[in-house]
Amino acid sequence: MAAKPLLEFNDKGIYCTQGQFFIDPWQPVKDAVITHAHADHAKWGHQNYLAHSLSFEILKYRLGADINLQTLDYGNTISKNGVQISFHPAGHIIGSAQVRVEYKGEVWVVSGDYKLEDDGVCTPFEPIKCHSFISECTFGMPVYQWKPQQFVFDEINKWWRQNVEEGKTTVLVGYSLGKAQRILQHLDLPIGNIYTHGVIKNTHEALRRNGVKLNPTIRVTPETNRDEMRKGLVLCPPSSVGTPWMRKFFPYSFGYCSGWMALRGAKRRRAADRGFVLSDHADWDGLIQAIEATNCETVYLTHGYTASFSRYLCDIGYDAHEAHTLYGGDEANEQDEDPVELVDEEGKVIEPEELVTTPQREKTQLTDQEKSIALKKAKKAGGAV
Ligand SMILES: [Zn+2]
Ligand SMILES: [Zn+2]
Repeated sequence: MAAKPLLEFNDKGIYCTQGQFFIDPWQPVKDAVITHAHADHAKWGHQNYLAHSLSFEILKYRLGADINLQTLDYGNTISKNGVQISFHPAGHIIGSAQVRVEYKGEVWVVSGDYKLEDDGVCTPFEPIKCHSFISECTFGMPVYQWKPQQFVFDEINKWWRQNVEEGKTTVLVGYSLGKAQRILQHLDLPIGNIYTHGVIKNTHEALRRNGVKLNPTIRVTPETNRDEMRKGLVLCPPSSVGTPWMRKFFPYSFGYCSGWMALRGAKRRRAADRGFVLSDHADWDGLIQAIEATNCETVYLTHGYTASFSRYLCDIGYDAHEAHTLYGGDEANEQDEDPVELVDEEGKVIEPEELVTTPQREKTQLTDQEKSIALKKAKKAGGAV
């Protein structure tokens, strides 16, 4: 009988039989290694948790102060039954880690969620060489191409300045863990004060207890001066959209930050005045670049456009598979980045299949990047090119 793979997917999560631990399990288990503190990856109810040190306070805040939580820094290794486990920066949010697992020379990496752009807030993504790579692909479609974040922050600051001139409060929605810190650290502070919703304030306090330095913010209370707020910017989570809490900022201009804002119709669906395309996940090019940099042979895709993206990776020479997990679409109860349908100009729903750039594409039509990947794969396999 062939030996079990070092990591496998079972009904509870990503499991290492040799080391007897799970990575980001969705059912309660004894030993859970956690890539980051978003709700679809860090579930309640495990006996023991292992996470990056910068996730310590936020996990205690979200899952309860009494969880049994051990931490590890980037680059440090611990051993479980002969299996070496180490954490490496994923660049997704503060404290997010890729998990590298090694046993008898075989290396697997679990990405968790990741992005390649250095956001200036969390430790930038580092590619790790491995044989097998378990990757997310939330935005694994060619339509998703992010602009450098400075471009987006310039747009946001310009919009804020304009609202101040027009006497409107600026209300900006972004997920409380990740997006809110990234926005906060790039706002043009001389324009005005930054106000926060309670959920974001609590998240910031947890991060500050962990030693993270963040720009000053003021929590919105019933006593907060309305005229002052018209010069300021209110940061709030997706869950506050359409609530009476938000209506009290009237007159206001409402902006929404999310990778899904790249889609036509997404802004209208959120009833936002402005949509800013900003994501803490890798875009199409980022995913391919990250996978290529691992030098891996096998790829498992956990969440996002797994079916079309795995077929695409197979086309360019990878041994790629879809994995069935419960990640994605549920970053906490705040409905962050829940997929909206792709619609065309007339509002007709487009199936993801129609969007992948390679409808029965000939090999001769591969891009230069794809050609170089395919060439390397062929060389590695020892085949003729
Ligand atoms: Zn995440
Ligand atoms: Zn995720």
